[in-house]
Amino acid sequence: MPETMTSIERVQATLAHRKPDRVPVDLHNFQPAAAALGVSLPEIFKSGELLAEAMMKAWREFGHDMILLENGTACNAQACGVHVIYDDDSAPVATEPVLHDLSDIESLQVPDPYTTFPMSEIIKATRILVREIGDKVWINARADQGPFALAALLRGMSDWMVDIGLAEQPERLHQVLDFSRRVATRYAAALMECGAHSTSVGESVAGPDMLSPVHYRHYAWQYEKQMVEELKQKHIPLAIHICGKTDAILEDFVATGADILEIDHKTDIRRAKDCARHKTTLLGPINTTLLYNGTPAEVENACREAIDILAPDYGFILGPGCALGTHTPPENIHALVESAKKYGVYH
Ligand SMILES: [Zn+2]
Repeated sequence: MPETMTSIERVQATLAHRKPDRVPVDLHNFQPAAAALGVSLPEIFKSGELLAEAMMKAWREFGHDMILLENGTACNAQACGVHVIYDDDSAPVATEPVLHDLSDIESLQVPDPYTTFPMSEIIKATRILVREIGDKVWINARADQGPFALAALLRGMSDWMVDIGLAEQPERLHQVLDFSRRVATRYAAALMECGAHSTSVGESVAGPDMLSPVHYRHYAWQYEKQMVEELKQKHIPLAIHICGKTDAILEDFVATGADILEIDHKTDIRRAKDCARHKTTLLGPINTTLLYNGTPAEVENACREAIDILAPDYGFILGPGCALGTHTPPENIHALVESAKKYGVYH
């Protein structure tokens, strides 16, 4: 059946819970896209020009409807002074936190995204993508990380989890979270000022695999919700990504009001659909391990199954459940994209 919508129209209809011609497809592919450019990963993840080139090269090859633009899961942390190592084979890693004591939060300033590395490079990449292909493909520029994830990196993951567990300084914990929310919100607004169609944050460590649902509600949820509300006032659509199995927080996750929830294959997708129907758009949930080591036929089967469950009543974007590994075979990425066209048509 011929396609009757552009990628942008297709995603727009989906986010509005109207009927698109077919299920749109997104790639969470900054790692394989960078590896395919033939330049070292650290060079690409530090350069807006190279990152944009990598994302455009991948888009020309795969023709997905939505580009997820990011340079990993440490961008905001680095902009706030956290030491980050740029790995040769995967995303940059935060190593040295900036809050040796929670009270150090007093001395941190919300970074200016236009002038602070590496946010400034992602800003540059957004501008290039918008200028070159922004009328053909939906650009979701990631304001990574979300409030809880950023707080964890500012303080260091293990110390942060201990702080949460002990809850000896609740005001300080909320002060760090509120600061992190302001960092992500300001960056998200800047990415949109550069012409991105939507923005998103990763809250990987806020999911039940890492954090109890009680703590999620108490420490992560309200800041995510506040971020959603603030951006909604500016008509900015926000996606939130949480890794792993999110069953225990699905209702809360939906109640953040985020336009898109990115869900992983470990989540019960039938229950996720029941919670999200007519309220929010789900993005995912194809297993990135399958995408790495499965066959194209296995990927196609997984996509068909996900489309059967998640596509009815619209509000669904097919994509990987998490970031694609650096060495994900191109034929499996093709199988993912083609499955949306083959099985995702709305009649
Ligand atoms: Zn993830």
